[in-house]
Formats: sequence, C-alpha cells, structure tokens
Amino acid sequence: MEQTLDLAAAAALLAAQRMAWLVADQRLQVQAVADPSGLLSLPVPRSGERLADVLPELVGSEPDLEAVRCGDLDRLEIDLIQREDSRGRSVYVRLLVAPDPTASTGEEALFCILEDITERGATRQRLMQSRNELLLAQRNLAIAVLDLQAANAELRRLTDLKSVFVSVAAHELRTPLAVIISYADLLAAGIDGDLNGPQLHSVDAIRGGADRLLRITSNLLDLARIEAGRLEVVLQVADLGELVAATVEELRGLFRQSGLTLTLAMDPDLPLALVDALRTKEIVSNLLSNAQKYTPPGGSVSVSLAAAEDPGELALTVRDTGVGIAPEEQPAIGSWMFRASSSAQINAQGAGLGLYITRSLVELHGGRLWFESAPGVGSAFHVTFLAADGD
Ligand code: ADP
Repeated sequence: MEQTLDLAAAAALLAAQRMAWLVADQRLQVQAVADPSGLLSLPVPRSGERLADVLPELVGSEPDLEAVRCGDLDRLEIDLIQREDSRGRSVYVRLLVAPDPTASTGEEALFCILEDITERGATRQRLMQSRNELLLAQRNLAIAVLDLQAANAELRRLTDLKSVFVSVAAHELRTPLAVIISYADLLAAGIDGDLNGPQLHSVDAIRGGADRLLRITSNLLDLARIEAGRLEVVLQVADLGELVAATVEELRGLFRQSGLTLTLAMDPDLPLALVDALRTKEIVSNLLSNAQKYTPPGGSVSVSLAAAEDPGELALTVRDTGVGIAPEEQPAIGSWMFRASSSAQINAQGAGLGLYITRSLVELHGGRLWFESAPGVGSAFHVTFLAADGD
C-alpha cells in the first residue's frame, strides 16, 4: 500500500527539532521555506529566489543536485557548515538535500533540511584546538629531548675528557713518586752512609708524604675508572679470614704508634669467600685507616669477621671508639668528597674519597656497606661479602 506523507505533520516535526527546510523546483528556485529558529540568514527567503543565493554552500554542487533530483544520487549531505544565523550568531549546520517526497505538481524537485549542530561543531572546534596544542607540545617536547640528548652527549664527552686527564695526570705522578720512595728507602737503609737521628726523621717524613701522595694517585685512578664504568674486580674463591688478618697485621704498627688498641676476632670454620684479594685488602685497609684516623689516642678499634645473618654471606665489622659522626651528616657519608664536621675536630687529613671508592668496590663484590655512629662514642662500619658456596 502506498504511504502518503502528511506534509503538515512533517513540517511540525521539523519545527519541533528547530530545523529549517526548503523545497526547490527543477530550476533550483525556492518554492517553499520554513525557518523557525532563524538558521537561514536574513532576509527570510521568498519563493522564486535561487537556491544557491539562499544556501551559498551549494554553489558548485549543481551536478550533484541534478543527480539527486533524477534519483541517481540518494542524497547530498554537507556537514559542519559554519555560517551566521538571522541573529548574527555564528552557528554550525548540517545540510541534507534529498528528492522531494511530496512532489505532486511536478514542479517541486528537491527537499533541503538544515539542522543546528552548533554544539557538536563547537566541541569539534575545541577538540581540534586541543589536538593542535597537543601537537605543539609534542613538537616542543621532541625539541627539548633533542637538546637534552645533545647536552648529555657533551657532558659525557667532558666527563670522559676529565677521566682521561685524571688518569694521565695520576699515572704521570706515579713515576717520580716511585723514584722519591725508592731513594728515601735507600737513604734510610744507609746506602750513602749512616744517617743521624734528625736526618732519619726527615727521610721518614719524605717517605710518609710520598706514601700519602701515592694513595691519592691510586684513589684518583679508581675514581676515573668508576666514572668511566671501568672499575673491575676479578672474583676468586679465597680465605677472607686470611686476607683480613694479613691487613690487620700490616697496619698494627700504625695503630701502636697512634696509641690505639687493635683487636681481631674471627668465627671459626668460616666458609671461603668470593673476592678479589687485592681489592678486598684495600676495602679492609680503608676502613681500618679511617678508624685509626678518627679515633683519638687511648681508644680502641676492633675488627670482627663472622657468618652474616644471610647464610650466603660473611660480615666484616670495624668498630672504633672515635669521634663519631653527627646524625644529620650520616646520610651524606660515602658520597663524593663529603667529610663530616667531626673530622676537623680531630684534625684528620683526607679528601672524602676513600669511602666512595670503598662502597663501589664492596658493591662490585656483590656486598653492602653501612654503618652506625654516635658523636663522641664511636662508629661501626659493616661490609658483607659473598660466601663461595652461597647460592
Ligand atoms: P677521608 O679521606 O676524609 O677520610 P673517607 O671517604 O674515607 O674520606 O670518609 C669520609 C668521611 O666520613 C670522613 O671525612 C669522616 O668525616 C667520616 N668517617 C669515615 N670513617 C669514619 C670513622 N671511623 N669515624 C668517624 N668518621 C668517619
């Protein structure tokens, strides 16, 4: 059964939706028009006006309009048209052109509907704006990342340069230092004739100074290696107890001279450890020489080696009755060149590099370094090493 369309009802429906509509004939002239919410620009078009004058968006679309009229094209749709409405307000509309379903006289041909989609248009506008802002931010970020990469590369270059400079300088210092040390030893041994007391004392002072310089050059070389990520240890199965005992014995004389008691306690039947022997002696020696430097005469230093709480580890502790470290300074201890204020109190020489290197060496051994300390009471430095049979 053919369905007839109630034109009045359709017009009411469109008006309720605040849509405008027009009917145009085959010559594309307006036949009828309704615009309840003023979507068309003023003046309200009258019958007989050209469709393209009322809807300039259709200029150039005549072939499509003809195709719609002949039924070759279902419809013509133009979305998001921005135009001014009859009140001068900027609106977004959607235009739909379809064959006129009510055509009866043969004059009517096209039916145009305009829908107000301002809200959607505004949202789209905002979205596009946000997208553009995002693109801009992304571009700026990409530029900032490039700048940062360039700055990083330059920093790496300068750090490498500094490391190379430090290494070369430290190496160059070691040769004349070796000459000073060997001639001081020869003089002390009386190779050029016996020395009297004051002369021996002077040679001793030369030897002591040269030793200190040698330690500084070793530290500088290690620091350059740490920065370049080239500090390495060769871990081998060894008797950690023997290494600790040997280091303690090497330093015993120094403790005696400083008026300090030095004791060593080791658990029996300790497992073997995975260590780099030379570097391990350096770790123990650094902790011991700190204990010696920061403990006033009459104090005591105790070294202990025991199985750690973790069964795969051994724990070394160096405890002293020295000046201690103030609680607020403790977090910075072991960082690059930091020295606690208590070190000035006892007039101890140093550059704040030893613990930084020691911690790196301990970590390369797979262990940890930590300490507790109380000003005026003393400090205890702890280090763990991996047991050789530990899983
Ligand atoms: P330094 O050459 O200054 O001794 P370290 O890196 O070995 O450098 O130590 C860093 C700082 O930590 C020291 O300057 C000192 O203030 C503090 N410190 C280290 N060991 C002890 C200790 N046993 N007792 C008190 N303070 C210590």
